[in-house]
Amino acid sequence: MTDGIGNIVDRTDPTTESFWASARKGKLLIQRCRTCSRYQFYPRPFCLVCESDEIDEVPASGLGTVYSRTTVHLDAAPELDLRPPYLVAIVELDEGPRLLSNLTSDACRIGTRVQVSWRSRGEQPPVPVFGPLPGAPEAGQRAS
Ligand SMILES: [Zn+2]
Repeated sequence: MTDGIGNIVDRTDPTTESFWASARKGKLLIQRCRTCSRYQFYPRPFCLVCESDEIDEVPASGLGTVYSRTTVHLDAAPELDLRPPYLVAIVELDEGPRLLSNLTSDACRIGTRVQVSWRSRGEQPPVPVFGPLPGAPEAGQRAS
């Protein structure tokens, strides 16, 4: 039985324990396969590409690009402590994996370069969220 999305992300097990411990230090961990060198997120006990269990946890750059986004207007998951309207996005990290996350600014459009920050949740470990990368051109603008 599950009692909500909030409890799913709050659960730790041997596979996710180091991710949440790192989150408490403001560092975004992803996994890298020693066999095929591919990165993946979220933490898993094996590589999704080659099924190797030789997996390293490495710090991500924290940089990425908004792949997709939407605005949520319903209070569909009150356990997340997000009051609508809020922005939900898929962010593609520079290393390749895509994360389902929140955007901290409506200025973040599809294609916008973003960087990770952390939304605190009291005693719970913080969750990664993304905001505009300072100095990056906005989506749709060409660098001159
Ligand atoms: Zn692999």
